[in-house]
Amino acid sequence: MRIVKLKQDRLNSFLEAVSTDSELWGPVKKGADKHRFKIVDNPAEFDLDYTRTILPPKKIFLPPRFNMFKAMPTAYEEETMDPTKKILFGVHPCDIHGILIMDQFYTQTYNDPYYIRSRENTIILGHSCWPDEHCLCHSTGTDVANEGYDLFFTALNDEYLVWIGSSKGDDLVRIVPELFNEDLSDRDIQNYIRWREDRSKAFKAEINFKAMPDFMELKYRDAVWENLSHACLACGSCSNVCPTCTCYNVNDKPRLSENASDIARCWDACTLESYSEVAGGENFRESRSERLKLYYTHKLQAFISKYGKPACVGCGRCAATCPVGINVKTVAGALDGEEVDAFWSRYATEVTK
Ligand code: SF4
Ligand code: SF4
Repeated sequence: MRIVKLKQDRLNSFLEAVSTDSELWGPVKKGADKHRFKIVDNPAEFDLDYTRTILPPKKIFLPPRFNMFKAMPTAYEEETMDPTKKILFGVHPCDIHGILIMDQFYTQTYNDPYYIRSRENTIILGHSCWPDEHCLCHSTGTDVANEGYDLFFTALNDEYLVWIGSSKGDDLVRIVPELFNEDLSDRDIQNYIRWREDRSKAFKAEINFKAMPDFMELKYRDAVWENLSHACLACGSCSNVCPTCTCYNVNDKPRLSENASDIARCWDACTLESYSEVAGGENFRESRSERLKLYYTHKLQAFISKYGKPACVGCGRCAATCPVGINVKTVAGALDGEEVDAFWSRYATEVTK
């Protein structure tokens, strides 16, 4: 892997030069203190001083809702999925790991043509970050990305150290080679090592992920699941914001005047009541505690036994999003026997008095 340098004040010239035939996506401020990935005309619109976007990059590969095909009485027509070339800039290491998990999921057992087409047309440009109180990527080992990107920009003083992670990334650098400097000095290397050490020390939240598969097994009937369910609103937000949640549903939308239907694919969430409902109205997971158990079994146990790592990349979105404080940190803490200070634990104390 080659590493080059780029002056930070040349970043926008680089992004403009490489995105002439692609959509340029990246983090843009939304409201006072939130961010989202958005297409921009001008890279000056990016705000790189962010910790996490509301939704992860999965929305760019598989939008929350899209038509797969049009069904007619005796035939169907495939919708052409957007083949637009995209450059996705400013992706943090946890989200790069989220993309790697989706790559595995959507290509290992069954190839998902919608995901694959979109993914193959997207160049990933990663960017360094600094943790806040919700970031758990140090515990999941996803605080650094060694693969899954085409270029990765680490901001140090007024420069970037730019890791070239693929031949596509190398091609981008070759479009404007005059912007880059190939000579890394000992000082650059020392600065980077110091930055890595300081960043490691800045993490505040931790989870013992190694112990979680055992704890999930041992505490499958623990009162914690009932306690969580008293407060859970079954809103599905924790699944929507999670970069590793992949469940979807398929709906028919009739086009009455044409004797045809649009067959649409839309994000689903195992925390929603309708998720486990089948024809005839039977629901296999009617209770919120069973649905939360399913969600956390996937995150903390089942995925580990199949893929050797948790289905959590420590992005902290569930912690920043759930209105009642149910998130991977507080649930893992409760399973680990901690006194958890969250709305759901205080509420459970009230309702079970
Ligand atoms: S755990 Fe929180 S975010 Fe998830 S469904 Fe329940 S209330 Fe909504
Ligand atoms: S479980 Fe929470 S912290 Fe982990 S990847 Fe999903 S949203 Fe991020």
